[in-house]
Amino acid sequence: MSATSHLNWPFFEARHRALAEKLGAWARSNLGDIDHGDTDVACRELVTKLGEGGWLKLTAPGDDNERLDVRSLALARETLARHDGLADFAFAMQGLGAGPISLFGSAAQRAAWLPGTRAGRAIAAFALTEAASGSDVANIATTARRDGDRYVIDGEKCWISNGGIADVYVVFARTGEAPGARGLSAFIVEGGNSGLIVAERIPVIAPHPLARLKFDNCRVPADALVGRLGEGFKVAMATLDVFRTTVGAAALGFARRALTESLTRVHKRELFGAPMTELKMVQGHLADMAVELDAAGLLVYRAAWTKDQGAARVTREAAMAKLYATEAAQRIIDTAVQLHGGDGVRAGHPVEALYREIRALRIYEGASDVQKVIIARAMLSEFSGAAS
Ligand SMILES: Cc1cc2nc3c(=O)[nH]c(=O)nc-3n(C[C@H](O)[C@H](O)[C@H](O)COP(=O)(O)OP(=O)(O)OC[C@H]3O[C@@H](n4cnc5c(N)ncnc54)[C@H](O)[C@@H]3O)c2cc1C
Repeated sequence: MSATSHLNWPFFEARHRALAEKLGAWARSNLGDIDHGDTDVACRELVTKLGEGGWLKLTAPGDDNERLDVRSLALARETLARHDGLADFAFAMQGLGAGPISLFGSAAQRAAWLPGTRAGRAIAAFALTEAASGSDVANIATTARRDGDRYVIDGEKCWISNGGIADVYVVFARTGEAPGARGLSAFIVEGGNSGLIVAERIPVIAPHPLARLKFDNCRVPADALVGRLGEGFKVAMATLDVFRTTVGAAALGFARRALTESLTRVHKRELFGAPMTELKMVQGHLADMAVELDAAGLLVYRAAWTKDQGAARVTREAAMAKLYATEAAQRIIDTAVQLHGGDGVRAGHPVEALYREIRALRIYEGASDVQKVIIARAMLSEFSGAAS
C-alpha cells in the first residue's frame, strides 16, 4: 500500500496530487537538518523555511477572491506530519492563528497581517482557552472594556500554542453584550504589547512552544476588534470549523508514517526462523491498521471536500473526521510500537516520537468526548426537525 494511493480518490483534483507530490519532495530535502533541541528556535526556522518554500500561502487567502482550500490544508498537514510533527505544528498554527483574520478580518487587518503570516515573517497564535474554560468555551473570564479609542484586555489564557514566540495573537475576551457565548469578542494583540505577559512556558510530551499568557491592562486600538462586538464565539467556532478537519489530517500523517515504519520492520525482522511477515497475528495487526487508516482518510477528506464545495458549516463532518482520525491514529501508532518490540519505546525512535506526538490531538481543538457531543447534537436536531 503506497503512502499516496489515496490521492486517486475522487475528492482530489490534479492540483491536489501535484501539491502532495511537491511538498513531499520538499519535506524530504528540507526537514532533515532541523535541530529540534530548542523548540522556539526550531519553530521559527520552520516557519521561515515553510514561508520561503511558498507553503504558508495555503494557510490564508492572498486576496479577496481567494478562499481557503481545506483539501490543500489537509494534504499539507498530512504530508508534513508524516515527515516531522513540529513542521506540521508550525504550518498549522499559521492557519489557525491567522484564521479569524482571514475569515472575519477587515480589509485593513488582512492587509496588515496576512502577507506576513503567508510569507513566514510573522508567527500567529489563537488564544481562546483559559484554565477554567477549555471545553466550556462560553465560560471565558478574560475581559475587554472600551476606554476611549482603545479596548483594555485583562485576564489569563492557558495552553496557547506559539505563546512566547508569536508576533500576532487573536485573543477572545468577554465584552458583555449578552451572557455566556454571546458576550465574547475577538481582538488582535501584537506580540510586543507591554500588557501581554508570558506568565509560564508549559513543557509537553511532544515539545512545541506553549504558554500561559497574562493580559494586564493590555491596551489595543479599537480597530483591533475582529468581526463584530459579541460575535467572538461565532468567529472562534467558524475558524475551528475549517481547521478541525486538518487536525484529523495531521493524525492521518502520523498514522501513515507508523504503518510504513511497521511494514519496514516486519519485513526486516526475523522471528522463529522466518520474517515477521509470516506470523498470522502480525498480518492481522497490519490489516487492522490499514483499514483504520483508510476509514480515517475517507472521513477527513469527505469533510474537507464538503467544505470546499461551499458548505457554510461542516460541523458534523469535521467532528467525525477529527474524532475518528485521532482515535484511530492512536490505536495504529500503539500497534506500531508493539510490532517494534523494545525498539518501539527507545527514545528517539520514529514510532516512539509518534506515540508522544499523537496524544495531544485527542484533546486540543475539542476533546474526543466533545466531538461526540457535537455529532450527537447535530444528529438529534436533524432527527427532531424531520419528525416535527
Ligand atoms: C498541546 C496543546 C495545545 C493547545 N493549543 C491551544 C491553542 O493554541 N489555543 C487555545 O486556545 N487552546 C489550546 N489548547 C487548549 C485545548 O483546546 C484545551 O486543552 C481543550 O479544549 C480541553 O480543555 P481543558 O484542557 O480545559 O480540559 P477540560 O475542558 O477540563 O476537559 C477535560 C476532559 O473532560 C472531558 N469532557 C470535556 N467536556 C466534556 C463533555 N461535554 N462531555 C463529556 N466529557 C467531556 C474530556 O475527556 C476532556 O478531555 C491546547 C491544548 C494542548 C494540550
